[in-house]
Amino acid sequence: VTFGDLGLAEWAVQTCKELGMRKPTPVQAHCVPQILAGRDVLGLAQTGSGKTAAFALPILHRLSLDPYGIFALGIGLSAGRAVQGIGVMPTPECTVIVGGMDMLTQAQSLMKRPHVVISTPGRIKVLLDENPDIPPLFSNTKFLVLDEADRVLDVGFEEELRVIFQCLPKKRQTLLFSATITSDLQTLLELSSNKPFFYEA
Ligand code: AMP
Repeated sequence: VTFGDLGLAEWAVQTCKELGMRKPTPVQAHCVPQILAGRDVLGLAQTGSGKTAAFALPILHRLSLDPYGIFALGIGLSAGRAVQGIGVMPTPECTVIVGGMDMLTQAQSLMKRPHVVISTPGRIKVLLDENPDIPPLFSNTKFLVLDEADRVLDVGFEEELRVIFQCLPKKRQTLLFSATITSDLQTLLELSSNKPFFYEA
């Protein structure tokens, strides 16, 4: 299988080549076509498997077809790595919302409707709860990525995730990646996803 076989736009295939990604890793080969086809995904994949590109490539492909509003919300990604992973493509506007930074500045950066928002569950929940201008910004969001989902739930973020799910449209794709399968993960899956394609390495 080559990147050209996965259904991605030619610019995305070229970018992979330029980045030295010679062929898709298994998680990419299995998940990219499913995500492009519109399905939710539950991927059991470790860091190092290429899972970041497995969701970033199809999201950027779709974004390039319809660059409107806040297109994707990524939760639980270690921010630096995520931006690196996602920023490799013709750069979409991306905002990272984490704790310890000024909330007003963060709200203002969301009001600019970046294409991609990367956040921790706690901080985005506070912004959604406390500023009535924020939830409508997510009314057209197409993708929710829950990366390292086992770790996100480990720290008891259920209430935060509930608020986030409420603010996102029902008609969206949820891409959930986790290193391990846990009973909490099952709950999260039921709350967030619709008949996901299941990938396991
Ligand atoms: P991840 O599992 O998303 O943390 O990615 C691990 C590393 O693998 C990252 O540094 C990527 O740049 C690299 N990578 C991702 N996909 C490929 C690929 N198809 N070929 C070679 N390297 C890749």
